[in-house]
Amino acid sequence: MIKVNDSVVRELRSRGRFDASKCFSCGTCTALCPVGLPILPREIFRYALLGAQEELIKRQDEIFSCLLCRMCEENCPEGVGISGNIRLIRGLLNEKVLGL
Ligand code: SF4
Ligand code: SF4
Repeated sequence: MIKVNDSVVRELRSRGRFDASKCFSCGTCTALCPVGLPILPREIFRYALLGAQEELIKRQDEIFSCLLCRMCEENCPEGVGISGNIRLIRGLLNEKVLGL
C-alpha cells in the first residue's frame, strides 16, 4: 500500500525548482530516452508528488540510471525540467535513504 506523504514534495521544492506537477503523462520522454524503459520519468514524478518515498526507494536504480542528457526535456510539450527534477529526487534519496 502506498503511503502518501506531502513532506516529500515540500522538501523537493525547498531544494530547487521541482515542477513535476506540469507533467501530463504524454510519454514523449519515454519514447525518446536513450536508456529506454528502465527509466520512466512520469512514473517517478507521480510517486514523488504523492510523497510515496518507499516507491522512490524501490526505483533508485532507475532514478540513478538517468544520464541527465536532457533529450526528453528538450522535447517535453509541457517544458518540464525533467533532469532537474531527477537531480532533486536523487539528492533526497542520497540524504534521506542512503545517508550520504
Ligand atoms: S514528455 Fe513531459 S509531459 Fe510528457 S510524460 Fe514526459 S515529463 Fe510528462
Ligand atoms: S535526461 Fe534521463 S530520462 Fe531524460 S532522456 Fe536523458 S536519460 Fe532519459
